Amino acid sequence: MSDKTGFIYDESYFWHDTGNGALCLRPGGWIQADTHSENPETKRRAKNLLERSGFIKELEVIAPRAATREEVELNHVPSYIDKVKELSDANGGDAGEIAIVGVGSYEIALLSAGGALTGVDAVMSGEVQNVYALTRPPGHHAEPEYGRGFCIFNNVAIAARYAREKYGLKRIMILDWDVHHGNGTETAFYHDPEVLFISLHQEFNFPPDRGFVEHIGEDAGKGYNVNIPLPAGTGNAGYLYALEKIVGPIADQFKPELIIVSAGQDPSPFDPLAQMMVTAEGFGKMAEAVKEIAERHCDGRLVVCHEGGYSTAYVPFCTLRVIEALKGAKSKVEEDPYELVIKGLPSDVLAAHQKEAVEKVLKAQSEFWKFNDQAVEV
Ligand code: ZN
Repeated sequence: MSDKTGFIYDESYFWHDTGNGALCLRPGGWIQADTHSENPETKRRAKNLLERSGFIKELEVIAPRAATREEVELNHVPSYIDKVKELSDANGGDAGEIAIVGVGSYEIALLSAGGALTGVDAVMSGEVQNVYALTRPPGHHAEPEYGRGFCIFNNVAIAARYAREKYGLKRIMILDWDVHHGNGTETAFYHDPEVLFISLHQEFNFPPDRGFVEHIGEDAGKGYNVNIPLPAGTGNAGYLYALEKIVGPIADQFKPELIIVSAGQDPSPFDPLAQMMVTAEGFGKMAEAVKEIAERHCDGRLVVCHEGGYSTAYVPFCTLRVIEALKGAKSKVEEDPYELVIKGLPSDVLAAHQKEAVEKVLKAQSEFWKFNDQAVEV
């Protein structure tokens, strides 16, 4: 196994212009607009922290290629792709439901999807063991027919379809730990047993009508869609418990040939668009757990794609911990700089209602998967 970790980004990822707003509201309402939530700062600062800490020198920096139109069509209808291009070539606009396309965003979105594809090629060829792609715009809310929730093209869904087509993979696992439900990815593979989709998210957050426990997939895809909605206030303990009790056992039975992660660093205590309590340390531990699953089943092949995360001051540290875990090494940033304000939070305490939320999922999925250390049949 290689010990190399790739890092994919392109300067133009930071040039996708969502304009101004108040959180996700467009200007012109009751409150003065400042910067739109999905602005470049969190991602640019994540890259800056890799540089300032010197940790970028430990990584293989890889330039992304743009996805081709045909590759985007693996997951999106042509009329939607045309719409994004038209908006991008004109003055921009909304490509669906709060999916802002700025001038020139089409080409950047192709490069963002291409970042995920570049990541797939880098791990499948063995050039690197695993990879972090700082993709922007994000992708997991994007539906085949329209954009949603700041997402234009569904980077991870396109990557999974591409990996299947190019490398003939039959079992791909997508784990989505963005605090919002990965509705677009769920839609893409809801009837598909070859792509296992597991989403950890805050219950009743965005989109409010998606991500329920009982949405388990349909037809041949039944049992290959796993929603883990967690209550507001869940922190490291709850997330790691869900990984241990649900994600690990299902992965051990599914035996993925490739793992793709939708990494949104928005379940953090500082995020303005969610109410969870996963600390930077917690993100590192989640990445370690997923890395171990990848090492058990697919020679460590793991592609991590950036999704959301809206705290400009904290997302960089969370992202750094994820990348450290992928590399299996520590940067010079030893302590969480926010230790003083997070140490009193009950992030490492598993509350009874959080445990119940996990048990609900185990019950809903027990028809398809074995849990509780039962003998595993494949
Ligand atoms: Zn999110």
